Amino acid sequence: MINKLIRPELKGFMPYTTNQANYRVKLDANESPFDLPMSVRKKLADIIMEGPGLNLYPDTESIELRKTLSAHWGVDMEGIVVGTGSDQLIQVLINTFVGKGDRVVCPAPSFGMYKIDTIIGGGTAVEVELKEENNFEYEIEEFIQTAINEEAKLVILCTPNNPTGNLLSLRCIEKICINCPKTVIAVDEAYAEFADESAASLLPRFENLIVLRTLSKAYGLAGIRCGYSLSNKAMAEELSKVKPPYNISSLSQLVAQLVFEARGEIESQIKYLTEQRAYLSRELEKFDGVRIYPSGANYILVKLPNANEVAKELERRGILVRSYSDPVLSKYIRISVGTKEQNDILLEELKSIIRQA
Ligand SMILES: *Cc1c(COP(=O)(O)O)cnc(C)c1O
Repeated sequence: MINKLIRPELKGFMPYTTNQANYRVKLDANESPFDLPMSVRKKLADIIMEGPGLNLYPDTESIELRKTLSAHWGVDMEGIVVGTGSDQLIQVLINTFVGKGDRVVCPAPSFGMYKIDTIIGGGTAVEVELKEENNFEYEIEEFIQTAINEEAKLVILCTPNNPTGNLLSLRCIEKICINCPKTVIAVDEAYAEFADESAASLLPRFENLIVLRTLSKAYGLAGIRCGYSLSNKAMAEELSKVKPPYNISSLSQLVAQLVFEARGEIESQIKYLTEQRAYLSRELEKFDGVRIYPSGANYILVKLPNANEVAKELERRGILVRSYSDPVLSKYIRISVGTKEQNDILLEELKSIIRQA
């Protein structure tokens, strides 16, 4: 019965699931290996003991957090919207601009939610291929042409791109904003702290631009579900009409605020992880038949023979990496950069697996 009631466009969908295997080392979801800084834990504990006010609804406008973000970015707080992860903001953005039959242009391979949220929203996703033979680089002319031909409402760009790790230059983002003035251009910068580059600097010049950021990756806060968008005020106002009320819990707002105040510590973690990325890349490159793709993020895309089998064997040994069933990506695994100790465990196991193969 349910089967017959469901919207036809959702028929092929599968629930989002994650690998529940037991592990020693978790390098499959691009999470930070660092839990909440000790200084933040202490402050949080004190606030909780004083009475956190959880009997009350949270601040639905996240005013304190938006003030902090505004000061950090030099973006008016009226141009900032907070979501339960940037995941929610992707959905809010699509639901704000994309109606039945409207087109959303996005890269492929990239983050799967762009297409899923577009279909759920009643729109049509038009994917522009990032080609392996071109190192998955964005072909920006093709994006512009596709957006124009399809009369796209929204173009979503992801830089560094997940899972390929490559960057899209500010010059290219600028070009697409100029050439597609009737299209909203969203730049998903979930990993941009590891590349130290942001399209936020272009915001004063383009009213069609919106930048999505998250605290889930570099900030080590995947567990609190908090992300935000940077745009002009008019765009943020429209998003705020669609965003569910009280979306961010009080505890999440509080933790986000405290961690942002402890940025110094996060910055040294980012520096450490980018050094580890270089180390891990160098070591992976030494393997015969293994190809790595340069990454501006906290993960590395690796091409290797029997990628899916290698991932399974790593899992048997307690190391989780991301593998793909999608045919385009089935030759690859994506490895999140961990601590030196975690990276060394991975490298040791990989050595013995590849030698045996
Ligand atoms: C992880 C990720 C996000 C979403 O992160 P949230 O936890 O929802 O903030 C968004 N975009 C990309 C490309 C990601 O990899």
